[in-house]
Amino acid sequence: MRPSGIHLLAPNVVLYVLEGEAPGPTLLFQAGIHGDEIAGVHALSELLEEGWRPRRGRRLVCPIMNPGAYRARKRTAPKRGPWAGLDLNRVFPGDPEAPEHEKRLAHAFMELVLEERPALVCTLHESQKRYDPERQPSFGQSLVYGVLPMPKVIGEAIERLNSRIQNEEERWSPHYYPVPTSSTEVIVERTRCVGVCVETWMGFPEERRIDMHKEVVRIFEELFEAEAPTN
Ligand SMILES: [Zn+2]
Repeated sequence: MRPSGIHLLAPNVVLYVLEGEAPGPTLLFQAGIHGDEIAGVHALSELLEEGWRPRRGRRLVCPIMNPGAYRARKRTAPKRGPWAGLDLNRVFPGDPEAPEHEKRLAHAFMELVLEERPALVCTLHESQKRYDPERQPSFGQSLVYGVLPMPKVIGEAIERLNSRIQNEEERWSPHYYPVPTSSTEVIVERTRCVGVCVETWMGFPEERRIDMHKEVVRIFEELFEAEAPTN
C-alpha cells in the first residue's frame, strides 16, 4: 500500500493518496483519461484544493490521467514525443515494454489497482449526447456499468443524485453498456471491484458539470463509508 502523499504513475501523471482518520474502504477516482472531458479533471482538482480528507478509508485520486490529451483538449493525445495518439481507455491492461506511452501508462495504472485493490474504481467522463435508451451510444447524465446485475451502490447513487437535481434536464440514469476493452471493464474483471463511469452531458455550463462530478464523488464516498470496511 502506498503511503499518503503524492506519487507518480508516469513522469507527469500524478496520483494523490489521501488517508482518512478511521479505517475504511479504498476508493479510486480518476479523470482526464479523455482530454476533452474536463469537468471531472476540474472537479477532482477543486476537491483537492478544498483540502479533501476522507472520513474513513483511503482515496486514490488521479485528476489528469492523460496529460497529453488534456493539454490538447482532445480525446487522445496528438502523436508527439512518446504519445502515440491512442485512446488510453482502450489499451488496458497495457504493456510496460511498449513503445507507446499510452500502453505503458495503462500498465502502471493496472499495477496500482492490483496492488491497492480498491472497492470502487470511478472514472469521470463527459458526453456530447444526452443519454437516451433509444439512441445508442448516448451517455450524458448516466452512471455506466458493464456487469450484471447492476451493483447496488449505483442505484443508490442515482437516487441521491436525482434528489438534488435543479431541473428535469439534469435527471440521471443508470446505464448498462459493456465495453469489453475499456479500462473499467478490464479492471472489474481482474479485481471484482465496483466499476463505474460517470458521464455528464456537455450541454450544461462547465461550472455546473464540475459541481455534478464533485457531487457524484461525495455520494460514492458516503455510500462506501456507510458500509463495513472492506479492506
Ligand atoms: Zn470519456
